[in-house]
Amino acid sequence: MTEPTGPLDLTAHLAQADPRVAELVEAEGRRQFEKIRLIPSENYVSRAVLEATATVLTNKYSEGYAHRRYYEGQQLIDEVEDLAVARARSLFGVDHANVQPYSGSPANLAIYLAFLRPGDTFLSLELSHGGHLTHGSPVSATGIWFRPVHYGVDRETGRVDMDQVRDIALRERPKLIFCGGTAIPRLIDFEAFARVANEVGALLVADIAHIAGLVAGGVHPSPVGHAEVISTTTHKTLRGPRGAMLMSTEEHAKAIDKAVFPGLQGGPHNHTTAAIAVALREAATEEFRRYAAQIVANAKALAEALTERGFSLVSGGTDNHLILIDLATREIAGKPAAKALDRAGIELNFNTVPFDPRKPWSPSGIRIGTPAVTTRGMRPEHMAQIAAWMDDAIEAAKKDDGEALDAIAGQVRDFTRAFPIPGWPN
Ligand SMILES: *Cc1c(COP(=O)(O)O)cnc(C)c1O
Repeated sequence: MTEPTGPLDLTAHLAQADPRVAELVEAEGRRQFEKIRLIPSENYVSRAVLEATATVLTNKYSEGYAHRRYYEGQQLIDEVEDLAVARARSLFGVDHANVQPYSGSPANLAIYLAFLRPGDTFLSLELSHGGHLTHGSPVSATGIWFRPVHYGVDRETGRVDMDQVRDIALRERPKLIFCGGTAIPRLIDFEAFARVANEVGALLVADIAHIAGLVAGGVHPSPVGHAEVISTTTHKTLRGPRGAMLMSTEEHAKAIDKAVFPGLQGGPHNHTTAAIAVALREAATEEFRRYAAQIVANAKALAEALTERGFSLVSGGTDNHLILIDLATREIAGKPAAKALDRAGIELNFNTVPFDPRKPWSPSGIRIGTPAVTTRGMRPEHMAQIAAWMDDAIEAAKKDDGEALDAIAGQVRDFTRAFPIPGWPN
């Protein structure tokens, strides 16, 4: 092994073998370093997680589960998967964990396979109100093969209306209820969902993809004890590699395992499993708990600073890592705003807002969050500056002032230099 020379040690050989890909990886590293990354589902993983993903574990086929495999040579892979499972169970306090789903969407599909038959009714949050595609969107397999009915948020409060959830559940008698989503700025009341699910005899599934790190870090209530099945990605606030986990009570363990393999998947991605194990170990530390609390403190500070600058926030603020902004009052649509902000060095995504009068491919809102900037060490006192740049960039976008956007990007580049990211020379 030669001495590593690349900006990521892991790319030293890549630079020789495939200069173009190495160049693109390095450029992406620089882009992630020079921007303020506010996409709430994104993060910066630790150096240890990066290293675990780039290992020889990618070479191994391991269909089946630890100690029950279809291929030989699993002596060490079994230990890796056992570690990841044990750490997931201990961190979240669940009976059972399956760490094999390739990502959040296949994990959710495994839930349908395990518990529903085609055409069965299930209840979930409307996509345009913050739900996820895999919760029954008409363009998703989950909406094509099953029968979704949806609850929404209240027009006035921007929060899920539990009376409405109960009314729909009593009327439609769903077999399964999803709580959770991708654009929810408020706490999820798992207990209230469990009461409705119990009343109608439905299985309650909590999709905590966005908030798993906040749950692990003790700043969001846990669904454990309320939802029998829990789905999560590992790469959002949990700050692990791209992947997912399904967790459940003992009662549903077999059904979930069978649905993931052989129901939907083949061999698990063992390098990812190792990285999930590393991330779960990190998430069990006191440092991670401080990180989770800091995410929320930063989001609250950013929400306040944005409100002071006249931005309109769905539900009026945030309880977690995420802020949903309705730009109607700023007289600009979400998409041109997102593009202008990206040019200004502030990366986020356009998003529908509840009761959006515009279409999903050009909606009224933008969605932001603080997991990534918090990992870099930004704190509440930095949030006013970010809000100011967002405000200025929106005004520049309305005047089509590209120079002003580029000037902000320059200031952002100077600012971000003080906040290192793992895997990039600072
Ligand atoms: C991100 C997300 C998913 C899907 O995860 P992918 O890894 O992108 O497939 C599922 N559910 C929710 C609520 C999510 O936020």
